[in-house]
Amino acid sequence: MKNIRTILAAATAGLALFAAQGADAPEFRYPKDGVTAELLAECKARGITITDWHLHIRGGMTPEMAAEREQASGILSSAMENHGREWEIFTNERLVEFAAAARRANPKLPVGIQVNDRDWFKQISPEVRQQLDYVLADTMIMPDEEGGEPKKMWLPGNVTDDVNDEAAVQAWMERYMKHCLQVVNEPITILANPTYLPPPLEKRTDLWTPERMDALINAAVKNNVALEINAETYPGPEFIKRAKKAGAKFTIGVNNFTDNIRSYDRVWDMIEQCGLTADDFLRL
Ligand SMILES: [Zn+2]
Repeated sequence: MKNIRTILAAATAGLALFAAQGADAPEFRYPKDGVTAELLAECKARGITITDWHLHIRGGMTPEMAAEREQASGILSSAMENHGREWEIFTNERLVEFAAAARRANPKLPVGIQVNDRDWFKQISPEVRQQLDYVLADTMIMPDEEGGEPKKMWLPGNVTDDVNDEAAVQAWMERYMKHCLQVVNEPITILANPTYLPPPLEKRTDLWTPERMDALINAAVKNNVALEINAETYPGPEFIKRAKKAGAKFTIGVNNFTDNIRSYDRVWDMIEQCGLTADDFLRL
């Protein structure tokens, strides 16, 4: 059995870069070289099926392209879009249309939504929910005070606390923790970007104390909510190791904004570093 980190290191050093598809392959088909093929083969040898559950049908990405990408890369795709008051899909009618169109484009792709309102399960009728394979949520939109307006925390000016005022930061974290626990207690399938911190506080990984990590992990395990390993940043290896030990399931997700899909290198690294096996991944 090979070592994933060795494959990655060789690729970085330019030793394993060989063209499997040619440099002209469209970006959305990722990978453009043989390294991912080698990494996928290694995962397959370990019995791990790699599915991207956070592939947005937006910014040029279509269900057809997601299916083509699956064929070309070997990374299984899904079709997912945002649901909520501020998004294009909000009504049950639009949701049914989206699910039907995605299934028409490729009946094999799992179809899901990312929910952004905290009362989403009251908005979506049980019949419509049954037409979806999964529901994903993150914690990146939070009211700026108890009962306040939901704020997209990744946008500038939306995390208002003074980051140099430690008492204010700690109070913010207490509020954020409650918010995270609220989300993981909703009837969701996947918690995306666990342990996310907004830009003004992103270096404060110490805010995620072992006790807070465990509280989130235990709620996820209790509720059968899988934890996403995002291709970009979150969560870190300590969280993943603790979650694995507690019996949590994982998914991977790229959270694309366009049809230009970024690298999964971090995901491979986390699989290796945290010793993840086939049993650690969500199966639907
Ligand atoms: Zn997303």
